[in-house]
Amino acid sequence: AAPVALVSGMSRTSRNGIVVKTGDMLEKMSTAKSAAFDKTGTITSGQLNVSQIVPQTGFEAAQVMHLAASAEQNSSHILARSIVKYANDTPLSPAEDLAEVTGNGVTATVDGHAVKVGKLNFVDPDTPRQPLDQTAIYVAIDGTYAGYITFIDNVRPEAAATLQALHAEGVKNVMMLTGDQRAIADKIAEKVGIDTVQADLLPADKIENLKKVPAELRPVIMVGDGVNDAPSLAVADVGIAMGAHGSTAASESADVVILKDDLSRVVTAIQIAKDTMQVAK
Ligand code: ADP
Ligand code: MG
Repeated sequence: AAPVALVSGMSRTSRNGIVVKTGDMLEKMSTAKSAAFDKTGTITSGQLNVSQIVPQTGFEAAQVMHLAASAEQNSSHILARSIVKYANDTPLSPAEDLAEVTGNGVTATVDGHAVKVGKLNFVDPDTPRQPLDQTAIYVAIDGTYAGYITFIDNVRPEAAATLQALHAEGVKNVMMLTGDQRAIADKIAEKVGIDTVQADLLPADKIENLKKVPAELRPVIMVGDGVNDAPSLAVADVGIAMGAHGSTAASESADVVILKDDLSRVVTAIQIAKDTMQVAK
């Protein structure tokens, strides 16, 4: 396409709170046939709130929250940020020997205790236990399972209409690629109208799913917000980051960054891309 048309398209997207880093992305978005969405923070709201702290017998809710929030204070994960915000009126303790295990959670030493926070089978691998059917993180203290913290993970009000509009724009293959559990993923996918759901994915699995998209279903767009989405945003034909609340890593890896906390801007971007290519012909 003519460079002048692309520049004008990019300035139009930017007036709509959409940063398109290179002009060729307008070309790809205008013919996109697939779109993959991360769940937490992308299909669901960028603002998650803690709903319950449930300690195991022998542990206190305040202690579970304090140790979990202290361990998570440097993580950019959306669940980490939510519990840190929740714990904000009490002082946190320093987290030593901190390690973030991609797609699983964090480990740290806090107040002399070994703390593990994240997925159930990461936190408590030795005890067979059914994970909850709501978004939650699990906590172990000194090697003992200590309880869990649940979140209100609401579907974005604009999500269903956005996915419907995408189908209308010719994006016929809409996927969910999530690190969360199957039961939660299916429930949310059904509410918003996703075509296929892949759950329990690590960042590397999200990449594999994108690579598997056949040529006739491309270009493929990936939309995500989290640090765990950054690698797949880089691999997709067009990576779109939800930049308003999302992690810096996601925005840096993406080709397109949406600056407003509004999922429907994905459709706006495609519509502007189509107009731009029309003019450019
Ligand atoms: P999604 O694809 O739904 O956005 P992620 O891949 O970011 O989810 O994370 C998947 C799961 O991994 C989370 O639901 C959580 O259980 C766990 N997890 C990953 N990182 C963290 C962290 N820093 N703290 C707590 N849990 C985490
Ligand atoms: Mg996410």
